[in-house]
Amino acid sequence: MAFQSGEEQTEDYLFKVVLIGDSAVGKSNLLARFARDEFYPNSKSTIGVEFQTQKMEINGKEVKAQIWDTAGQERFRAVTSAYYRGAVGALLVYDISRRQTFDSIGRWLNELQTHSDMNVVTILVANKSDLKDAREVSTAEGKTLAEAQDLFFIETSALDSSNVSAAFQTVVREIFNILSRKVI
Ligand code: GDP
Repeated sequence: MAFQSGEEQTEDYLFKVVLIGDSAVGKSNLLARFARDEFYPNSKSTIGVEFQTQKMEINGKEVKAQIWDTAGQERFRAVTSAYYRGAVGALLVYDISRRQTFDSIGRWLNELQTHSDMNVVTILVANKSDLKDAREVSTAEGKTLAEAQDLFFIETSALDSSNVSAAFQTVVREIFNILSRKVI
């Protein structure tokens, strides 16, 4: 989604990106780490933000990513279709230390395809890479699934910050590139 802010004749880019995945995989903490460089060891952030707008620089242009967090709604009921509306990017997160969260990925992909009206640039995010001794899903398994589903893939840790910015940047950069190709 791009719009021109008329008077200044400068281009302004605002992309909606959603975080999805099972409860407690680390969605809120990935956003907290990325947007505020914070981490919540035991409980959820009490800020309860629906979304956070983050400025990023892509190819020398300022891009704003409006990143949506389910804020736990997946625990009680299905994520609403309003959550997905207008999304052009998604971070689909699982926890490498809980296989069941990896087994849910297919269901989340179906839900994303059902609710979104366009092709959503999606990255499969294998979070909690710091939990090496508790690993239940190998890197190779994650990569294989991502390739089969035509998704980007990255392993992250919201705890030690590893690859967190890269996960968001990969999605936003790809959206920007697709859009640039369409505009030219
Ligand atoms: P959400 O329900 O998907 O938003 O998950 P949260 O962000 O609330 O995280 C659930 C739990 O996992 C919390 O106790 C976090 O502290 C913990 N957590 C999140 N990310 C990581 C991580 O990268 N490594 C470790 N070890 N714990 C994490």
